[in-house]
Amino acid sequence: MAFELDPTLISVIIVFGILVLIEAIPIVALALEFFVIVLLTAVSPLLTIVIGTVGILIGSMLSYSYTYLLSEKVPWIRKFLQKKKIERMIQFFNKRGDPLLIATRCIPFLPFRPMNFVCGATKYPWKKYFPITLFGAFVRVSIIVAIGQEILKLKVSLLPLFIVLFIVIIIIGIIVDRVLSKVIAKETLESKSQEIPSIPTSATDSCESIEKTHGLKRLEIYAARMWNLLNEGKSFFLIFSVFIILLRVIIIPFLILVGANFFPMDDLFILLINYNNTRLISSVLFIIPFLVVFIIFDFPLRYRVFLWVLLGVFLLIFQYIDLISSILILIFYFFFTVFLWGSIYYHFRVGTSLTNFRRFWKLVLENPDSTSGNSLEQLPKIFITVSLFTFLLRNPITNLTDNLILPYLILLILAVSMGLLSHLLYFRIIPRETGVHTTIINNERLVDRIYVIVIDGCRKDRLEEADTPTIDYLRNEGTEYSNMRTVYPARTVVCFSSMFTGAGKEKHGVTSNLVLKSFFGKKGVKVESIFDVLEKNDMKGRMVAIAHLIDAFGEKIVQTVSAVCPNDLIDGVIFKTAESIIEKEDPELLIIQLISTDQTGHVFGSSSTEYLQKIEETDKRISEFLDWLKEKDKVKNSVIIIMADHGQSHRGIGAHGHWDKGEREVPFIMWGHTIKKGVKIDKEVRILDLAPTLSYLFGIPPPKESIGIVL
Ligand SMILES: [Zn+2]
Repeated sequence: MAFELDPTLISVIIVFGILVLIEAIPIVALALEFFVIVLLTAVSPLLTIVIGTVGILIGSMLSYSYTYLLSEKVPWIRKFLQKKKIERMIQFFNKRGDPLLIATRCIPFLPFRPMNFVCGATKYPWKKYFPITLFGAFVRVSIIVAIGQEILKLKVSLLPLFIVLFIVIIIIGIIVDRVLSKVIAKETLESKSQEIPSIPTSATDSCESIEKTHGLKRLEIYAARMWNLLNEGKSFFLIFSVFIILLRVIIIPFLILVGANFFPMDDLFILLINYNNTRLISSVLFIIPFLVVFIIFDFPLRYRVFLWVLLGVFLLIFQYIDLISSILILIFYFFFTVFLWGSIYYHFRVGTSLTNFRRFWKLVLENPDSTSGNSLEQLPKIFITVSLFTFLLRNPITNLTDNLILPYLILLILAVSMGLLSHLLYFRIIPRETGVHTTIINNERLVDRIYVIVIDGCRKDRLEEADTPTIDYLRNEGTEYSNMRTVYPARTVVCFSSMFTGAGKEKHGVTSNLVLKSFFGKKGVKVESIFDVLEKNDMKGRMVAIAHLIDAFGEKIVQTVSAVCPNDLIDGVIFKTAESIIEKEDPELLIIQLISTDQTGHVFGSSSTEYLQKIEETDKRISEFLDWLKEKDKVKNSVIIIMADHGQSHRGIGAHGHWDKGEREVPFIMWGHTIKKGVKIDKEVRILDLAPTLSYLFGIPPPKESIGIVL
């Protein structure tokens, strides 16, 4: 080689880069900061203090700047941050900001990063922010280096240090959380009003402005699709497993190399340094069958137990566990689901409190659906795949007579048979959407307009429990189908596709929320929808919904409302949008997707009191909308339909998709012109009966592939 790079220099550069990233992106936790600094201390304490301070300073300035700029430039970000909250924070900061900032900078383990964002959002003067952060970072890093030197003297090995550190940080986290939540509880008590929040005109204005800004709308559609990749269990399993493997075989060994003067070298790293191609390739090849099996087969509901048995079998026959990757899986899985998804994502999208993780972790532990939040299904799948990978790196199978071939095959065959078995057993309870083509055809138009109000994710039993005078009125004065069921899998886009084509997923082709084809430009249901039939008959059908329904019905039909909106306001904004469509286009058929009930279920669980309250709030919104319709004289010859696309499971994060009881049954009420009064029908019917029923009322043919009946 012509020249050689000093390994210490490379390490220093890498650690510097990591520190900048840690400060700029809040998702890397306190633990990593501590860990990296202690590792570098092993190289040189003085150098660590210098680059630690500068790294943290640059990162803090970055995160401060982008929060500052984003909250200034993008109005809807300012809206999520909620003006009132910011004003309260500014007041609080004016009183006690400086000492708070100094404390969180100087004392290790105190939440440093959130302060960057608070300062950015509240426009804390940077002339104070910069020197305090510089000074604070210096003190903080110096303390950690001092602690690090003591730890290094103890000559403990990496793993126990990591575990101890993790426990310490959790304990401190709990204490800080207690204190913070007390302060927050006090604040919210002072400001909470019992009224449902009215929609300030600025909210509607800004939602309209979002619709005008085409670029932002596109951005949200793509963001929704990207999020779905992490949200759907199957794609998440693949992405997350690969992520953990990369972390385990590249990043962690590198960090260990940095501390190699002191820590024992990681054997996986030695293997990789020796650049043993065959090992790497054979390990990858041998885990591919497991990746495929775990992607193909769901282990729904109680069949998840198979996966835990399989994990037990793996541990038994291979007698192997890679502690580092196990810890990585646990940390990153719960970090992603509980903090990133349950707290941060919901905070910015729907305005949930940032401390929502305090109950979200319980929901994730018992969650039974097909998303990445199903920990009992995801964790054993990921554990088996990653462990097998690192095992095979250490003990490669080099030829087909290898001793390891037999246990490997046993595990694989067991996995396939368990997958098959759980599918066979499970699909006995899954209904198939079969039936003859809709036969009843009516040529006489019976009604002028139909408004279908879909309360997304509304559980039938919870709706009955809730105090809902408006819906009760419609039920008593109209016709109720008390045994209406959704379709499998009960995911929003699948359900809507069935509702408006009258067909099952086999025909309309939409099998999950993740409409993969939408990435490649081919969109939509494959069969005729009620909207097509209406158009052929010179009538208009429109839908007000959130972004992902565009993938099923196209932009011409679906008027989207930004789902990035405080949950208290969103349904109001949706109704306002519906009203403006009625005023501008006056469509014969209008579908209104209300989403705050579904979102409340996903944030707090559908057994929570918040969920019940949200249904009651939705009832009030519906009442306001009906009043508006009456005022505009749109009710006389019209029909109102109240229904849900699917319910939610009793346990977990408002789960749906695995045919749990709570998600199968949905409410269905018809009221208005030509609809019989005070009738309750107990016969089992399906949401796909909606399309032919709408056709019948309009006096037009049902969609071509409709197999529903006319209700
Ligand atoms: Zn839904």
